[in-house]
Amino acid sequence: MSVENVDVLIIGAGPSGSVAASYLHKKGLKVKVVEKNLFPRFVIGESLLPRCMDHFEEVELLDCLKKRDYEVKDGARFLRGDEVCNFDFSKKHTKGWDWTWQVPRADFDKTLTDELITRGVDISFEEEVIAVDFNEDGFSETTIKNKLGERNTVSAKYIIDSSGYGRVLPRLLDLEKSSELLNQSSIFTHVKDINRPEGWEGTRITFDVIDLRTWLWVIPFSSGVTSIGYVGSTEFLESFKGTSSEKLKAMLKLSNYYSERFEGVEFQFKPIEISNYSKSVKQLYGKGYVLTGNSAEFLDPVFSSGVTFATESALLAAKLITKSLQKKTVDWEVEYSDYMKKGVDVFATYVKEWYTGNLQKLFFHKPENPEIKKQICSVLAGYVWDETNPFVKNHHRLVKAVAHVIDMEKEKSE
Ligand code: FAD
Repeated sequence: MSVENVDVLIIGAGPSGSVAASYLHKKGLKVKVVEKNLFPRFVIGESLLPRCMDHFEEVELLDCLKKRDYEVKDGARFLRGDEVCNFDFSKKHTKGWDWTWQVPRADFDKTLTDELITRGVDISFEEEVIAVDFNEDGFSETTIKNKLGERNTVSAKYIIDSSGYGRVLPRLLDLEKSSELLNQSSIFTHVKDINRPEGWEGTRITFDVIDLRTWLWVIPFSSGVTSIGYVGSTEFLESFKGTSSEKLKAMLKLSNYYSERFEGVEFQFKPIEISNYSKSVKQLYGKGYVLTGNSAEFLDPVFSSGVTFATESALLAAKLITKSLQKKTVDWEVEYSDYMKKGVDVFATYVKEWYTGNLQKLFFHKPENPEIKKQICSVLAGYVWDETNPFVKNHHRLVKAVAHVIDMEKEKSE
């Protein structure tokens, strides 16, 4: 059994792990990334938000991504029966990126790790973290198992847990906490989109609302493949019987808008089911470690915030670790936990209000209020720390309040 010493051990090579690794390596720290799978590997999370472009740019990972010609996402469309609500990221309250991508994650994540490897970052694939011991000062000894079953140890001053749904430290340190969101589940696959219409209509990312808790995502990729996924209450999704393909086919029939486009289209892989996908933790950091991305928190796919939180938290964690290793004081509670929770709280309100129906009232209300639309658009672009935006600053009450006004207007006109 060998022992290796590093400054920072990163668990997982998804976008969170890659962004953290890129930053720390640039700062001259000794970093090791341990990844359980061999890349490319499938993972869900294909619709990005403009905010994450800031992170990739800052750690110089944007150029390698630009070369991949991913489908550009410059907004998002929500449908509900005949009602349509289109968001255009160039019309938003907060300054910042007005586009991003729709990406097949197998290719996206491999592009990031290939780039890091060419820069000399140490990434070990097909190696799994199975145990971690911390001493009183926060120094850790991590046991890693390779594909031959051999075990090695890595000693680190800090661990960044970016293991996504692997949730390595939340499991090992008993940090798991039930999410306060509703029990929602999902089933998804990729299709060769042979009936895709030409132009904007064919490539626009769309969320088709079936009912209050139930919706379908359609995320077209530049390759001609499209990701389709169905989301609903766990109870509703469990009421469908048969194989996962049979279930998804039956669910697709419930979409008036898309049932024809995807009728009889072959699934590229057996649809994957994730039950009760929302996750939370008791704390985001501890002595010698920090949790980033999905390992820390996952809310809901409805506003595509997952990857953006993964990169936001990774970049911040990497900066704070660098500061700490330079012997500067870091207040992890304020500088990391409070900051991340602020953004998570904003999105959590939007997710909750989506499923109460209040936000759907705002989205589909006609005539649209252009100012409100710009402010909500900034939230949907991931700029959830901009307190000049009333829909960020007053998120707890504003969505509810505007929905109430819409209800009153409706009552008056009836
Ligand atoms: P991941 O990308 O999951 O990477 C974690 C890595 O850690 C994996 O490669 C894994 O193999 C590795 N790992 C795990 N355990 C170990 C271990 N023991 N040792 C070593 N390595 C390990 N987000 C969006 O932004 N847009 C979307 O459209 C979107 N849609 C979603 C739809 C659904 C149904 C769900 C459930 C989530 C969706 N998400 C979406 C969220 C998105 O999947 C995640 O937020 C994102 O992938 C998190 O990135 P990450 O780097 O934290 O983790």
